[in-house]
Amino acid sequence: MLARGPTTMTKDATIRASSVDNLFVCPPSILSTTHNRITSQNTPAMIGKVVHECAAAYVESKKFDADAMCSVYGLVGEDVDTVRKLAFCAAGIWDRDISKYFTRPQVESSIKSSTPITVNGVQYYLSGTIDVASGVGATEAIFLDWKSGFVDDGYANQMLTYAYLLWDFMGRPQTISITGIVVFLRHRYFDVVKYDARTLEAWEYDLAHNVLENPDKFSPGPRCNYCEIRSSCEARREVVAGSIDDILSGNTDGWYQGGMDTLKDLTDVNKYNDGVGDILSDMMFRISVCDSAIKSAKEMIKATLKRVGPIPCGAKSQMDLKETEVKSLVAEKAIPVLRDSMSDSDIAAASRISLTKVMQTVSGRAPRGKKGEVRDGLVEKLDEAGAIRRSVQHRIVEVSNEEEEADTTTSEKES
Ligand code: SF4
Repeated sequence: MLARGPTTMTKDATIRASSVDNLFVCPPSILSTTHNRITSQNTPAMIGKVVHECAAAYVESKKFDADAMCSVYGLVGEDVDTVRKLAFCAAGIWDRDISKYFTRPQVESSIKSSTPITVNGVQYYLSGTIDVASGVGATEAIFLDWKSGFVDDGYANQMLTYAYLLWDFMGRPQTISITGIVVFLRHRYFDVVKYDARTLEAWEYDLAHNVLENPDKFSPGPRCNYCEIRSSCEARREVVAGSIDDILSGNTDGWYQGGMDTLKDLTDVNKYNDGVGDILSDMMFRISVCDSAIKSAKEMIKATLKRVGPIPCGAKSQMDLKETEVKSLVAEKAIPVLRDSMSDSDIAAASRISLTKVMQTVSGRAPRGKKGEVRDGLVEKLDEAGAIRRSVQHRIVEVSNEEEEADTTTSEKES
């Protein structure tokens, strides 16, 4: 079913803290009740879940068993290494920098607002599970949120929701001291944010009047690629279809030609002109949705051919899956066999050793606190031997200005 709206939210609704940032970006992505929601438990989500459980166990008992928890969730191989790495990072940051501020830490506290935000007759409640909270008294509280993903941006509203929930729990006093700490485990640093009653009141107003009052305001953008209703969202579909159509027709008025013309005329000086950045951001977004639509369409065709077999296409042909066997050597078993007929240098010339894998192995074996040193020492030795070939690749990224500044003023970042 394709549906663009309206969003028929007529009853009371509860919004989870983890979805509030998406709610601010595109309200129907969270509020719509007319679309089919497709939720999938992907590997990064499972890794995040296990890391959170390990961290909770560590905060409560000073120990965790990452392997046992991974096996419960069916995680194997590199995923287990990732869980171990992130869980140890959480334990390290907790012991060294954070635990001293949490006098009576409580893990995984579920909380729901008692006062609804009423908009257009609908009563909206907020809820969330706070990873660690402590000292929740009449006017003071501190809480922490672990982040196990790669992105260290776009969580401000989730943190505000937790602070709001604690404030609501306190009875909404006007003088409060609420501190939130968000720990980015992949990047090994944390941010500290302070909240007061004025900020939370202003945020509640913003949520009510600029977000919940516009439940049908679709805003296609980069988040579409992760949206639960993307497969039936007409607004996203229009962007994808329009974008592909513009590319194919070379539409001189559209984003594609506009973007190409902008690129052609761009110089070191005029790149700062108003609108240039927006044109290029929009261009990248449309390219990414087209890419993802094409990838999904190919996967769908493959899955269908697997399910139903060859499909006739006209009188003379049919569409089918062609199977190609991909062979690769298992190095530890292949090398003893190859030595019968090849010299070591021939074997080396035919081999490819992953530097990332090597670094993971050596740092996995190095004692805690020495991993960086061991890795750096090995890179130095490999460099001396001329064993590292370097080349440069370029990929397009959009980096927030705040992130760039933070890189040079990392008061709370670990190296
Ligand atoms: S697919 Fe995009 S435009 Fe549609 S609801 Fe989701 S985020 Fe909004």
